Amino acid sequence: MTLHPEIIQISTEDNIGIIVNPLGLADGTDIGEGIVLKERIPMGHKVALKKIIPNDPIIRYGHTISYAEKIIEKGEWVNENNTSLPPSPPLESLATNVSNSREKVSLTDYTFEGFKNEDGSVGTKNILAISTSVQCVAGFTEHVVKKIKEELLPKYENVDDVVGLSHSYGCGVAINAPAAIIPIRTIQNIARNPNFGNECMVLGLGCEKLRPERIASSSNDDVFYMQDNAYQGFGEMMDGAMKIAEKHLSKINARKRETCPASALVVGMQCGGSDAFSGITANPVAGYAADLIVKAGGSVMFSEVTEVRDAIELLVNRAANSDVAKALIHEMQWYDDYLEQGHADRSANTTPGNKKGGLSNIVEKALGSVVKSGTTTIVGVVPPGEKLTEKGLNFAATPAGDFVCGTLQLAAGMNMHLFMTGRGTPYGLSSVPVIKISSNTTLSNRWHDLIDFDAGRMISERKSLEELGWELFHLILDVASGKKTVASDKLKLYNDLVLFNPGPLT
Ligand code: CA
Repeated sequence: MTLHPEIIQISTEDNIGIIVNPLGLADGTDIGEGIVLKERIPMGHKVALKKIIPNDPIIRYGHTISYAEKIIEKGEWVNENNTSLPPSPPLESLATNVSNSREKVSLTDYTFEGFKNEDGSVGTKNILAISTSVQCVAGFTEHVVKKIKEELLPKYENVDDVVGLSHSYGCGVAINAPAAIIPIRTIQNIARNPNFGNECMVLGLGCEKLRPERIASSSNDDVFYMQDNAYQGFGEMMDGAMKIAEKHLSKINARKRETCPASALVVGMQCGGSDAFSGITANPVAGYAADLIVKAGGSVMFSEVTEVRDAIELLVNRAANSDVAKALIHEMQWYDDYLEQGHADRSANTTPGNKKGGLSNIVEKALGSVVKSGTTTIVGVVPPGEKLTEKGLNFAATPAGDFVCGTLQLAAGMNMHLFMTGRGTPYGLSSVPVIKISSNTTLSNRWHDLIDFDAGRMISERKSLEELGWELFHLILDVASGKKTVASDKLKLYNDLVLFNPGPLT
């Protein structure tokens, strides 16, 4: 941390800056550009960079976060006491007759070394995935994966890993309830993640409600039942599963890394354990890199419905057309209804801690989260458990919970995951590389072997957004190529798949 006065202005249109110095800045501090602080302002809080008259917008991230309620002089503290919250229009009244042009693909020279699939998708890892139809077989699957790793994997040098896709679903559920389609299609689509090379094998029990055939989609896919009469005891079952695995391993082993355009990237992004700097450093840097990926023709998805809900008007305005705008509103409405059924308070209202950290209201909080989506047009909306189909920036509708969001983004077909954190989390996924990005250098130093990229250098080393955005973009290409290994892969720190099941249990 630097000791001289440090202010961050995210967008050139912003009429406020954020105080970065850990102890805040004292009354009378000269912060340059002819601005002298009129009072003490704490870290993470806003200072007026120009005189703002009543009813003028307070602009942060290039957007209106509130309106001035009184004259705010240059150098004054801008907070909830001298501003008012803009009205949040109900979903029904949002205008959907929008039209925004798609980003032109202007960065054509960037490539990575990936595993091409027949369907045009590209893997960043070469993994044998073992799908499962029901939790009953989780222990068996674990045995099979262990045995494959010990006995078969050394013979197939092009295969990076074997991953068992165990989950809590499959039986004891109302399989025909309308909402059941979400966990079912999630399981189906995860089996088709680009990192698994379209080689599908499914371990099932035999009597479960989720029929293993629903996960396997083609005749090339293999389905194994523990209850198959052919197997006399556990040993024979293991042999049977190993035989199927070997068939798929030999096919996957034929895959080799080839040069692929950056347009084959499908990057999922989310936050977890955020702090006051997440919206100042980590999310804007991720947003800059997101723009670069989209300009390279690739796909990016951001998610977490409850964390974007209060910035929905901005997202709708960025939609490519009215269909995308309506789809965005539909997902918000669906989630509003879902939360209401559970008698949950929908609003992620600012907590006293948020306000203390400088987030004056819910619009400002949501903007700090949405900034990770960058600036490009939203070309598609991916309902929970569905696959992403439109190249460019997509909104994948998921809960904000880290594991549920990651699981749904896996189903959407991500081959790279960006995870922004301020407090720190050991989050990792075995199927897709997770680049963990810290919002502050203190965390990055303390967790030197758990964090992959320090966006806090925007403050601690005065690096520019542009510089760090490009650096992250290059890191994404290197990780996608297998040239760099992320911390969670080095340490094999992996979280479980957690399905989003809004349907009833029986
Ligand atoms: Ca999250």
